[in-house]
Amino acid sequence: MKTSSISPVHPAFMKRRAFLGAAAAGIGAAGLWPDVQLFASEVKDFIVGPPVKDIAPVQLSKHVWMIFAPDGFPTPENRGMMSNVSFVVTSAGVVVLDSGSSLQIGEMALRMIQRVTPLPVVAVFNSHFHGDHWLGNHAFAKAYGPSLPIYALAKTKEMIQGYEGNTWRTLMERWTNQSTVGTQLVPPNQLVENGQSFQFGDVNLKMHHYGKAHTDSDLCVEVVQDKVTAVGDIAMANRIANMDDGSYPGSFQTFKTLVANAGAQLWLPGHGQPGTDLLHTYGTFLAGIWEPCLQAVKEEKTEAQAKQMVLQDPRVAARAKTMQGFDGNIGKYTSLAYLEAEKEAF
Ligand SMILES: [Zn+2]
Repeated sequence: MKTSSISPVHPAFMKRRAFLGAAAAGIGAAGLWPDVQLFASEVKDFIVGPPVKDIAPVQLSKHVWMIFAPDGFPTPENRGMMSNVSFVVTSAGVVVLDSGSSLQIGEMALRMIQRVTPLPVVAVFNSHFHGDHWLGNHAFAKAYGPSLPIYALAKTKEMIQGYEGNTWRTLMERWTNQSTVGTQLVPPNQLVENGQSFQFGDVNLKMHHYGKAHTDSDLCVEVVQDKVTAVGDIAMANRIANMDDGSYPGSFQTFKTLVANAGAQLWLPGHGQPGTDLLHTYGTFLAGIWEPCLQAVKEEKTEAQAKQMVLQDPRVAARAKTMQGFDGNIGKYTSLAYLEAEKEAF
């Protein structure tokens, strides 16, 4: 892990772009290109994108705080701040639940934590392998050392260490016009399982995982004393979830099992505001996509007809105007539901 080699200063990252432009202009000089490339990659190793502006944390319960991301998607303006970072202040230190989309967001979260408590961060949990939930690990490993425990399900760790990890890091740089440059991959270093419990001072954390929902490795963390459960991306408040790695029936099953095991909770999502009715509300929306698709497949209707049925479903239509990402994604996620319905029906 190279976390200690990163400079804490934030040189204007325009310098890098100017440099790379000059380097690109020099490509014509025969034999120079490999050297230039090598140098450019070294430059990138110490160029760090600009800081992210502070977002004051909101206290949700006795121990749980949330740094709320108003936007659901990454842009150059929000510098990747598209998912909530939450933390639990225990008598034994601070536990971070999802670390954000970049080194810079993790560092902002750390500043916000320090407003609330002088206690150190003692652990990080990553809900799943999508980069907006763990790329910020770098900030915490940089501040507290590589032995800081970062917990996740085994599949999450495997995906971050594999192709997904670097892909997310690169995509986040592209989506934010390089604002997140300098972020290094810091994969989880501790594994958890469904049913496991952790004691951090006066707080118990209970792990929940019930198969494929948003991905095949979604970890929900129940803060037992507070009746608050961080659910990652299995449900969202006002944003349509990426279902590329997920399952509609798997999501419904997970909601049911989670409610049966955790009971009434304040459900804290990775995107949008927490709510006691979040699983119900989001489940209703997802059912408005899934059930018409299943019906269409059973009646041998085409995918285009299924899409019409979905858009006309009142559970979907009611959300269409206000939900972040709806127009851009509803077609794609209906296709995914239709494909999954075909598998389920035959
Ligand atoms: Zn996700």
